[in-house]
Amino acid sequence: MDLQVTTSGGAASALEESVVRAFGARLRGELLQAGDEGYEEARKVWNGMIDRRPALIACASSVADVINSVNFARENDLLVAVRGGGHNVAGTGTVDGGLLIDLSRMKGIKIDPERRTAHVEPGVTIGELDKKTQAFSLAVPLGVVSETGIAGLTLGGGLGWLRRKHGLSSDNLLSVDLVTPDGKFVSASEEVNQDLLWGIKGGGGNFGIVTCFEYGLHAVGPEVMFAFVFYPGEQAREILRSVNEYMAQAPDEVSPLAFLGRVPHDETFPEERQGEPFIAVAAMFAGEVEEGEKVLRPLRELAVPIVDFSATMPYVEAQKVLDEDYPAGGRYYWKSQNVNDLGDETIAYLIEHAEAAPSDHSTIDIWYQGGAMARVGASESAFGDRSAPILLGIEANWDEPRDDEANVEWARGVVASMRRFSSGGAYLNFPGFMEEGQRLMRDSYGENYGRLVELKDEYDPDNLFRLNQNIRPTADGSVEHPVTGGGAA
Ligand SMILES: Cc1cc2nc3c(=O)[nH]c(=O)nc-3n(C[C@H](O)[C@H](O)[C@H](O)COP(=O)(O)OP(=O)(O)OC[C@H]3O[C@@H](n4cnc5c(N)ncnc54)[C@H](O)[C@@H]3O)c2cc1C
Repeated sequence: MDLQVTTSGGAASALEESVVRAFGARLRGELLQAGDEGYEEARKVWNGMIDRRPALIACASSVADVINSVNFARENDLLVAVRGGGHNVAGTGTVDGGLLIDLSRMKGIKIDPERRTAHVEPGVTIGELDKKTQAFSLAVPLGVVSETGIAGLTLGGGLGWLRRKHGLSSDNLLSVDLVTPDGKFVSASEEVNQDLLWGIKGGGGNFGIVTCFEYGLHAVGPEVMFAFVFYPGEQAREILRSVNEYMAQAPDEVSPLAFLGRVPHDETFPEERQGEPFIAVAAMFAGEVEEGEKVLRPLRELAVPIVDFSATMPYVEAQKVLDEDYPAGGRYYWKSQNVNDLGDETIAYLIEHAEAAPSDHSTIDIWYQGGAMARVGASESAFGDRSAPILLGIEANWDEPRDDEANVEWARGVVASMRRFSSGGAYLNFPGFMEEGQRLMRDSYGENYGRLVELKDEYDPDNLFRLNQNIRPTADGSVEHPVTGGGAA
């Protein structure tokens, strides 16, 4: 029987059974379709808002599988999604009716402790890479939740506990291997295809499928000091002012996050505080433990804490501190906005918005930027301008489909209201559903947008890779390709 599929332009079409069978026979990994064992599991992504049914899932196990899959998609004009760790908040790692190229089984990691490099395949998660690098007390700067895939994280930038000391994940990329839309296998580094490496550092999956990321490694751990303190929400204003003062002279070893939210209904917190507003401050010290204890101490003495979870711990554990707050299958809608400062007016708005969140699980996150990540010039990589001292992450996190609209609207409202404090720029790994299309891309990439379009024209003029933070090629006309999914988008 023919297989019903969706074309790159979104039309319905059909593939003959023999064509599908021949494709499956060329793959070393499995080719799954509805009804096959493993299909339901393979089609799931982390965000429970996203529920899509690919016509085919190619579970790639090698570069050859990736090349075969790309060629098959192009030759049959299929709508393609690419999946690394499956954590993309907008759900770009899956597709209705198209071909999903699933890289999550490509988990090779090779560490060279002498040269301080790691070669990493695209199905690897943060926790898996940390475990391998920490065997040598080395680390790649990655994100703050260990289940996230390194692939999407790095292609979008990559903000974590080491960002002010060692930069974004993408700043630490030395080279990549990649399969281009015409099925060619190329490398990009400072020596070859420099323009492509420039574009991959923040430009998303626009130019091809990365089959190997080579990172530079840094000495971190094995033990680190980690501060994580919950304070009463009533004191949020004073605490944020104090963190501003602290950050004015903080060393690059400290890359804090502050969160505004409501205290979880969890026995680790005093019962009388549960459900009440909190402000939490968290930071790792990327250096010696004893020094970290001293340098982080002021962040633990900003007021009388509700709970202080700070401790010396293995780096791999510090990287997991936030994991349990983000269960797979929960409902998530995350937006972001750079802001110019955290003055009293900005703080007042943030507190008000956080208190108005419809869900107890939602938070407004304050990422303190600067340091090494800000010393990379805006034109040095596709990621663009890093001059804003603060990135706001607006995280709507909730459980029930009936609450979709209220939560999505809350996050959109916060972003709209905070724009007055911004010179522009959002972080494309926290993009909502990218419903603003090219406007969001232009705003986020700034002056790099034009160069990215040129690169897209060169490598992917037909926009084979469009379900991503999409840079529209010139030939693709004015059609927006929505990547939205889930009820409320
Ligand atoms: C719980 C959670 C915590 C997070 N924490 C952080 C954080 O601390 N810091 C931060 O910066 N971000 C963070 N993020 C955002 C995260 O960086 C993005 O969601 C990222 O897209 C996840 O990558 P992935 O590989 O898991 O996603 P996927 O959904 O698998 O992939 C995302 C997209 O990347 C592209 N892609 C993936 N692999 C490849 C490849 N090999 N070649 C070409 N294109 C590819 C595709 O377009 C794909 O749609 C977090 C997300 C979640 C869900």
